[in-house]
Amino acid sequence: MMPPGVPGNSSAEIGVARLGRAPASAGRDRMSEIKPLVMKFGGTSVEDAPALARVAEIVGARKSQRPVVVVSAMSRVTDALLAAVRAAEAGEPDEALRSLSAHFARHLDAAQSLVAAEEVSDIERAVEDARREIAALLREVSLRARPHALLQDAVVSYGERLSATLLSAVLRGQGLDSRTVDARLCVATDDAHTCATPLQDETDGRTRAELEPMIAKSVVPVLGGFIGSTLEGETTTLGRGGSDYSAALVGAALAASEIQIWTDVTGVLTADPRVVKGARTVPSMSYAEAAELAYFGAKVLHPKTILPAVVRGIPVRICNSREPEALNTVIYFETELSPRTVKAIAHKTGVSVVHVTSARMLGAFGFLRRLFEVFDRHRTIVDIVTTSEVSVSMSVEDTSAIAEIIADLKPIAAVRVEPRRAIICIVGEGLRWTPGVAGRVFSTIDDINVLLISQGASNINLTFVVEEDRAVEAVRRLHAAFFEEEEDAADAGAGAVAAEARGASRRA
Ligand code: ADP
Ligand code: ASP
Ligand code: MG
Repeated sequence: MMPPGVPGNSSAEIGVARLGRAPASAGRDRMSEIKPLVMKFGGTSVEDAPALARVAEIVGARKSQRPVVVVSAMSRVTDALLAAVRAAEAGEPDEALRSLSAHFARHLDAAQSLVAAEEVSDIERAVEDARREIAALLREVSLRARPHALLQDAVVSYGERLSATLLSAVLRGQGLDSRTVDARLCVATDDAHTCATPLQDETDGRTRAELEPMIAKSVVPVLGGFIGSTLEGETTTLGRGGSDYSAALVGAALAASEIQIWTDVTGVLTADPRVVKGARTVPSMSYAEAAELAYFGAKVLHPKTILPAVVRGIPVRICNSREPEALNTVIYFETELSPRTVKAIAHKTGVSVVHVTSARMLGAFGFLRRLFEVFDRHRTIVDIVTTSEVSVSMSVEDTSAIAEIIADLKPIAAVRVEPRRAIICIVGEGLRWTPGVAGRVFSTIDDINVLLISQGASNINLTFVVEEDRAVEAVRRLHAAFFEEEEDAADAGAGAVAAEARGASRRA
């Protein structure tokens, strides 16, 4: 399944050993001998000249694996572009443009230190073109000349377009034959601006047509993540954090040997490292585990990333661009059961619980359909659902349409909303078969009020809701119970994650 020589690959064999079935289609007829390596670099991995220099070294070291590079905007650039759009909408387009100056300068500074002298003027021209075009778009925003979401996508796309232009020049500066590719020529989407859905067949065809000739000539294509275009050629974006999604789409289209997500942490960790200092690398996970974690708050991976890759059986590896040789995490469509039942703990704050009560629900059919139709109509995603005889409780993240939802439900049910809640999700394939985990979880946090519980339909997660201000404490205590206490005990025996991790590290 894996080509020889991909650094760190052998830790992936942990998963391969017990694969019972083959992936749907990891190969294709055309170009079947060449399976490129798709490498995605996130915003912090390209934030300044030293970071870009590290990326060039990482890509250069993997030249023989035919890298295809997908890059995010430099860190904080997407936020700044979105803030500029808001300022323009509030009637300040000139001020909005000025607020971007420092970010334009960051691109120029990096180019000055890393790009060959004769190419620096090309970068300067690209930045000046971007500045002029963004200025025109911001004026349109302030005049409400075209639909807001469409203009917003056009503005934010410059983050990835500029970083791709810059990184490609940096790679050339390091002696690699690299070319910038406009990602909008590869990724085709519907017209749901700001959160567009890719059109898989169209994207497959376009991506192959654009990239395969370059790969065949050992050229390293660099394309911006996050952006695409409609069939009519309008610029779209895939939602925040969407560059991972782009990498998976490109990897799937090209039947990549592997998709590597290069970021600022050593792989997927047992908990969010900003909350749990002692969080450690999980060496391998199944797609299902990774999807649950991503969905319930582990920002390291965009939830939708999983899908295009899983369909084609392509492994996804999460690596640290600051420490390329450090431990990493490989995600397969299936992996061996962890010796520890619990692989990781994710959490998501800013959640509300919606309780819907209706006497009509008693013994009636069709109630749930009517209820969810209302949420569908208002494009509100429901995460967790629990039901009793006469009530349904749900967790939602986006409450912007809650007033309309309550109004629509009024004829059939009473609605109560509890804001400031957090979801905690314990993930592990072993949860399917291991008794006692729920007991251990809830006894660990027995003084914290648990408001909703769902043993996930996939059987690999145990998900529950607590008050937001107790979430951090709950996650820390659970991490200590499931990872740290056992680790202490394991000093006398075998600390499973640590041992597995050490093994992977040696092989990497
Ligand atoms: P990038 O800019 O490279 O896309 P992100 O900021 O989107 O990076 O994702 C990486 C961040 O995800 C880490 O810095 C970390 O703070 C956060 N994170 C949350 N949960 C986890 C987890 N379980 N494992 C690793 N990182 C996590
Ligand atoms: N630049 C985009 C964002 O900040 C996409 C990404 O980085 O994945 O959301
Ligand atoms: Mg990200």
